[in-house]
Amino acid sequence: MSKSKLAQHSNPEKLASELSILDRKHLLHPSTNPKAQVQHGPKLIFSGGKGIHLHDMKGNTYIDGVSMLWNVNLGHGQKELADASYQQMTNIAYASTFYGYANEPTVRLAEKIAALAPGDLNTIFFTSGGSESNDTAFKLSRFYWQLRGYTEKRKIISLRRGYHGVTVAAQRATGIDAYRNFSGSIDPDIDNAKAHLTECELGAKDHPEYEGSIRSIIEKEGKDRIAAVIVEPIQGAGGVHIPPEGYLKAVRKLCDEFDIHLIADEVICGLGRTGKMFGVDHWEIVPDFMSIAKGITSGYAQLGGVIMKEHIRDTITEYDDMLAHGFTYSGHPTACAVGLKNIEIIERDGLVSNASLMGQELEKGLHYLEDKYHFVTNGRTKGLLAGFDLMEDPKADIPFDGSVKAATTLVENCYERGLLIRPFDFEPGMNIVAIAPPLIVNKNDVEKIIQILDDALTAFSQKLK
Ligand code: PLP
Repeated sequence: MSKSKLAQHSNPEKLASELSILDRKHLLHPSTNPKAQVQHGPKLIFSGGKGIHLHDMKGNTYIDGVSMLWNVNLGHGQKELADASYQQMTNIAYASTFYGYANEPTVRLAEKIAALAPGDLNTIFFTSGGSESNDTAFKLSRFYWQLRGYTEKRKIISLRRGYHGVTVAAQRATGIDAYRNFSGSIDPDIDNAKAHLTECELGAKDHPEYEGSIRSIIEKEGKDRIAAVIVEPIQGAGGVHIPPEGYLKAVRKLCDEFDIHLIADEVICGLGRTGKMFGVDHWEIVPDFMSIAKGITSGYAQLGGVIMKEHIRDTITEYDDMLAHGFTYSGHPTACAVGLKNIEIIERDGLVSNASLMGQELEKGLHYLEDKYHFVTNGRTKGLLAGFDLMEDPKADIPFDGSVKAATTLVENCYERGLLIRPFDFEPGMNIVAIAPPLIVNKNDVEKIIQILDDALTAFSQKLK
């Protein structure tokens, strides 16, 4: 069947089965089991969405409990974003920012982000997404040190369970083995700290994990070989880990002590998700670079960027030759027009404070579930970035046996009840469930999410018996 005939199909079920066949034949999916995909076809074929809801071709409706990939912060079917895109596309859809060319939405968005970012983070290099932003941050950090005469300062230190993307450098900075090791790609200048959000960075040398800490890597490697440390203010894909109080301040201090850049990967946290405009704002630190993507356009267009401090910009702009870095879509006018409208709506509708308030409701709901189910534990929220653990016996620190597939089973139970959320179980004994609904949720929506979780947990506990 030709493509146009397929689009005109009047029987949605038949269309869904045709799409499934074509998908299995022609599409390789990211972060998906390819063998299962080819055997069974897509789990869901979305046909539309409005607000926090998504519809599939079989006529089912789901609450988007993780904003798809933590990015659809304004929810689905947001017409104002579509209009901003339409207007920009009919004016000039694409113009390059290479060779000194500029256009209005790109410059205005750069100005707006500089105004929102903390401290003197005031210059942005645009990319098309998070991985490109992190690779760019690594390259600009190394370039800065080169310009300052430190040609050996190249290493990047990242954290266990950090997720920074899938381009080769971002992949190697990622502290989740499946991603980090995929395809055997390597970047010898990226070092993964083994210690995960510990007190070592606060100076606790007698800590059992000290050997794997950022501080110990710097001591072993030597500060003259290290360009930057990258951290997510709150780790997302590693299982929603909120750092201990004082941790990020300690890492900032550590970087200052050894003259090393701090890169904050705000790809999930940035633009309001955590109840502040940026994740680092919770701990009042100013990184040297900040990577953003996802929430900058709420997923309505592909856009990312690296924001840098003034002194970094000043050093780079002393360079009197071509900056040999850039993506075709760096500063894409349509994506930037969508980004500007997206920020305008976030500010106009008070969505950062809504994320904070609704996060408190979500937290209450998680505590209710912890009280009701002994195996629900460690509920945590910062704004609308939330997670909890499932353990056989949290008090005795006993995880569920891997065969129970606790997180996956619970998430499947939620799916059957119309809620899409995400499981994380990439380490032995890990069973984490993440929740991150669009920032537009109201109290009823949060209650509905908790109610579905409650029903799904009841079903899960019955299976355990
Ligand atoms: N950094 C973080 C914290 C992320 O969560 C992600 C994606 O989930 C990335 C980077 C990579 O972004 P992208 O998939 O847009 O390349």
